[in-house]
Amino acid sequence: MSNVVLHVADVHKSFGGLKALSDVDLQVMEGTTHAIIGPNGAGKSTLLNVCIGRIPPDTGAVVFDGEVITGKQPHEINQMGVVRVFQTPEIFPDLTLLQNVMVPAFAKRDGAFRLNAIQTVSNQHDIRDEAEHWLEDVGLKDQKDMTAASLSRGDKRRLELAMGLIQRPRLLLLDEPTAGMSRHDTNSTIDLLRKIKARGMTKIIIEHDMHVVFSLADRISVLAQGQIIADGTPDEVKGNPKVQEAYLGG
Ligand code: ADP
Ligand code: MG
Repeated sequence: MSNVVLHVADVHKSFGGLKALSDVDLQVMEGTTHAIIGPNGAGKSTLLNVCIGRIPPDTGAVVFDGEVITGKQPHEINQMGVVRVFQTPEIFPDLTLLQNVMVPAFAKRDGAFRLNAIQTVSNQHDIRDEAEHWLEDVGLKDQKDMTAASLSRGDKRRLELAMGLIQRPRLLLLDEPTAGMSRHDTNSTIDLLRKIKARGMTKIIIEHDMHVVFSLADRISVLAQGQIIADGTPDEVKGNPKVQEAYLGG
């Protein structure tokens, strides 16, 4: 029996008259990669924002590791091990790759971090070594002293991933990890995410690219107009006529 890491329980969220999420119930099991797919406007980003505490649900709850996290602040939820990457570029273009990866490690250790302190703390060897380790893990160690601004789009995603991994997430949330990437960068991102998956990390992935979804997901939940219309293994979801209808417009 595996554990439920995250349980989104009967969540409703409306924006004015628009029901962005209605009656959403979702369980993410330990060690799995759980994909959330659905057409544009389906409610995927809203659901992710509810999970990380950025959008409060109107009714329902989010339970993480057995604890209700609804109502907690995003930074509190982050401190509990819920780490989101990729939604917006959150890298610091003028800092080196090494410094970029050190920032979230300091923020986690000290609760807060002032960016103008990066030069003085860059010499702290424990976190520096750890940052190097995670840069190596994502294949960027050779570029560690370059500034982040000089990276290609694919390498920026790798850097963001290292910034997430150094926080040692209990649950990693990936918002469209391959959006805007070339096929080559997409495939190398899939390889990297497979490597992380092999370590047993629990992940939620929001993704449009079906090649990516079917390469990585253990389970898929399909959102359409704020409701989960299908939930199951990739094969179960692929053959579901409701899913085909939602994607092809009926
Ligand atoms: P997805 O990520 O699946 O494309 P979203 O969760 O971004 O969908 O949006 C779901 C619906 O909620 C859309 O109709 C969108 O326009 C609406 N919506 C999202 N955020 C807001 C907001 N802050 N205020 C008003 N409407 C919103
Ligand atoms: Mg979205």
